[in-house]
Amino acid sequence: MKQLEQIKPTTENTFEKIANHEQVMFCNDPTTGLQAIIAIHDTTLGPALGGTRMYPYKSVDEALEDALRLSEGMTYKCAASGLDFGGGKAVIIGNPEKDKSPALFRAFGQFVDSLNGRFYTGTDMGTTMDDFVEAFKETNFINGIPEAYGGSGDSSISTAYGVIYALEATNEYLFKTSDLGSRIYAIQGLGKVGYKVAEHLLEAGAQIYVSDLNQNLIEQIKTKAKDSSGEVHDVNSDTIYHTDADIFIPCAMGAIINDQTINQIKVKAIVGSANNQLQTLDHAKLLHNKGILYAPDYIVNAGGLIQVADELYGPNHKRVLVKTKAIYSSLLDIYQHADMDAIPTVEAANRRVQRVLDDQKNRNNFYSRKRRPKWKIRE
Ligand code: NAD
Repeated sequence: MKQLEQIKPTTENTFEKIANHEQVMFCNDPTTGLQAIIAIHDTTLGPALGGTRMYPYKSVDEALEDALRLSEGMTYKCAASGLDFGGGKAVIIGNPEKDKSPALFRAFGQFVDSLNGRFYTGTDMGTTMDDFVEAFKETNFINGIPEAYGGSGDSSISTAYGVIYALEATNEYLFKTSDLGSRIYAIQGLGKVGYKVAEHLLEAGAQIYVSDLNQNLIEQIKTKAKDSSGEVHDVNSDTIYHTDADIFIPCAMGAIINDQTINQIKVKAIVGSANNQLQTLDHAKLLHNKGILYAPDYIVNAGGLIQVADELYGPNHKRVLVKTKAIYSSLLDIYQHADMDAIPTVEAANRRVQRVLDDQKNRNNFYSRKRRPKWKIRE
């Protein structure tokens, strides 16, 4: 009895926490040491889609919070990109450097399979395509697998293309020409996405400031610049916020628009791939008040997601590129709505997502749930 009294408040609290989510599944496999949480936020538009993150969370609560927050974000991303998928995300509690094994990912694959297509997943922070080759042995509901296994391979190429289309749309909106070469850019992070964006901008003849903690990447892009009509200047990780660039391109970590940095930033626009760039929504308002155009990150970085969602129809890079190009018009539309309603661009993007979800809810009610968008299960 005493035990029940102790447990009760936690149970109530947990249901409060997951009140906005359709389903949360705790996965426990003592044999492999797997402890994971799969959060399904909303399947209005189709089955939930979202990567699986592996991280040494300090507590189950911390892992649950991350899964809930990230899965909700996926609902927005999928809806904003016109995908017939809802939002989901999984987290595996563990250190990706020490706690991985093929058996652990096979066990995880079995849990994903048990959801019978309500949740599709693939790589995220701390997990790799190789991990999901193991999970794929147990379930078909995996995407983002290597080309050798029938998947579409490295999705950072599509993400980088998405950033380029977003930059073109921003230039069109601000300068009445989508030409990339005549502007100055500041790129934070030359990893899988940032490096490809930098290469493309140099080829277009642009001037770029770059910063990365990895000096090798700086040297590589400087060498690359020699064969291009562009110019590269390296700056340290603090200076990148206050260069005299036209556009700041964050391609490293999140929350970089915060109380410390916001007053340093003097670009005309911010357009980057990093997830969750704004520390809080108030920072969107502050940017708006300062007259800095902010391209909502979940619109800009959707290229990779578009690719993994498309993979279920069979890999086809041309089709993915066409779909990714839609980022250009979506972003212009969001800029125009934000301008018309005098609201921050993030609010305009969120309203757009809400419209997509409401429209689908109306259709679901009208036709019955059986008529929801069709999605293909890989044979
Ligand atoms: P990555 O890990 O390959 O690259 C990140 C780079 O940022 C690394 O080179 C790292 O050294 C650098 N970096 C870290 N801290 C820095 C700092 N303080 N200053 C300067 N550089 C720093 O990651 P990625 O795949 O290129 O992704 C970049 C961002 O885009 C991440 O926020 C990621 O979540 C987001 N994103 C990536 C994809 C994708 O397809 N890869 C898709 C959507 C969103």
